[in-house]
Amino acid sequence: MSKPHNIIWHDSSITKEDRRKQNNHSSFVLWFTGLSGSGKSTIANTLAKELYDRNIRNYVLDGDNIRNGLNRDLSFSDEDRTENIRRISEVSKLFVDNGTVVLTAFISPFLQDREKAKAIVSEEEFIEIFVSCPIEECEKRDPKGLYGKARKGEIPDFTGIDSPYEEPISPALTIHTNEQSVTECVVVILNYLKYRKLI
Ligand code: ADP
Repeated sequence: MSKPHNIIWHDSSITKEDRRKQNNHSSFVLWFTGLSGSGKSTIANTLAKELYDRNIRNYVLDGDNIRNGLNRDLSFSDEDRTENIRRISEVSKLFVDNGTVVLTAFISPFLQDREKAKAIVSEEEFIEIFVSCPIEECEKRDPKGLYGKARKGEIPDFTGIDSPYEEPISPALTIHTNEQSVTECVVVILNYLKYRKLI
């Protein structure tokens, strides 16, 4: 897509630092990536409540919700998956600028797209969390019945079946949802954020 002409960036009178100061905490993106059914939404939403209880302003951007609205015009082709992630990255960046902790729950299967997301948000504000779970277990859970449909050929380009998932090479954190409970996974993330003095 070409760059639009005659558009001039307008600086805000309130800076990101002002907003962080008012909120009394930092702002950044927790980018959850993993197979469908690995537990991204479950972990992100459980963690969001923990952060909320600690007075940390946060917002979950969830795959299905975004695809119902902002990205309803996009398919699951490789090209549209890339555009899906680009838009989410830009929205995440705005939230970070607003002083908010963002939790994104998207499969985001392509390494290159996640690298671009990191570049859009900025490296130091982008924390990649690999929600690791064997596909057999995800398929067994099948919380939305999607694997069943994909196996029957009703959903083309399904990640892990006929569309690839590229695992992160050096994520900030990996959680194993087939080995640890939801609560344990959330504690691991909270401890990491405390260790990094982000909360
Ligand atoms: P995703 O957002 O990655 O598609 P969901 O969060 O929608 O996945 O679904 C994950 C399913 O796995 C839920 O039904 C959840 O209850 C179950 N589950 C079992 N153990 C865990 C765990 N440790 N972490 C997250 N989800 C888990």
